[in-house]
Amino acid sequence: VKNKKSRAQDFLDQLVKAYPDAQIELDYKKNDPWQLLVVVSLSAQTTDKKVNEISPALFKKFKNIKAFADASPEEVEPYIKTLGLYRNKAKHLVLAAQKILMDFAGKVPSDRARLESLAGVGKKTAAVVVANAFHQPAIAVDTHVARVARRLGLTTAVNPDKIEAELTCLWPGPMLLKAHHTLIIHGRVTCIARKPKCNVCPVTSTCPRVGVTVWE
Ligand code: SF4
Repeated sequence: VKNKKSRAQDFLDQLVKAYPDAQIELDYKKNDPWQLLVVVSLSAQTTDKKVNEISPALFKKFKNIKAFADASPEEVEPYIKTLGLYRNKAKHLVLAAQKILMDFAGKVPSDRARLESLAGVGKKTAAVVVANAFHQPAIAVDTHVARVARRLGLTTAVNPDKIEAELTCLWPGPMLLKAHHTLIIHGRVTCIARKPKCNVCPVTSTCPRVGVTVWE
C-alpha cells in the first residue's frame, strides 16, 4: 500500500495532465496584488464569471488603492451591485484600502496575518493572495478543494484549517498553488458535489471513492 504522500503525488500528476491549464479564473492585472485582493474578496458567495464581468469597469473607475480609499462605499456599490453581499463588500474594500494606506505604507501586505487584519479578508482570501501574488507555499481550501481531497482519501478532516494543514504536508511547497488550481477545476467539472462523473474521471482507477453519489 502506497503511503499518502506518494498517492497524493500520483493524483496530482494525473490531474495536472488532465487539466494542464488550470489556473486562477479571476481576471486581474498581473503583478497587482491589490487587484487580486479585490477580485478574490468580491468572489465570495458568487461566481468568478460574475466578478470578471464587473471588474473591468470597477478598475477603470477606481484605478488603485488610493482611489478606493478616497471613495465612499456608496460610490463603489453601483459597480458591484450584481454580486451577492455587495453592500458589505463595498464597505470592506474601502476600509481595506484605507488601512493599507495608513498602516502598510500603501502596499498590500505579503503575510497572511496582516492580510487577515484587513476588512473582509478571511483565511481563504489571504491564502489565495499570498500564493498567487507573492509565490508563497499556501493552499486555500474552498468547497471544491475540501470535497476532492476527502474523496481522494487525502484527508478525513472537515474543518478547512485542518484540511489545509494536512494538504500542506502532502505536496512540496512549490506545488501547492498548482494543486490548488487543479483540485478546484477537477471539483468544478468532474468530481462535482452531486453525482460526480467517475466514468470520465482521470483518477478513476485509483480513487478510493469511485462511484460515490453524495457530497462526501
Ligand atoms: S473517481 Fe469519482 S469520486 Fe473519485 S475523484 Fe474521480 S470523480 Fe471524484
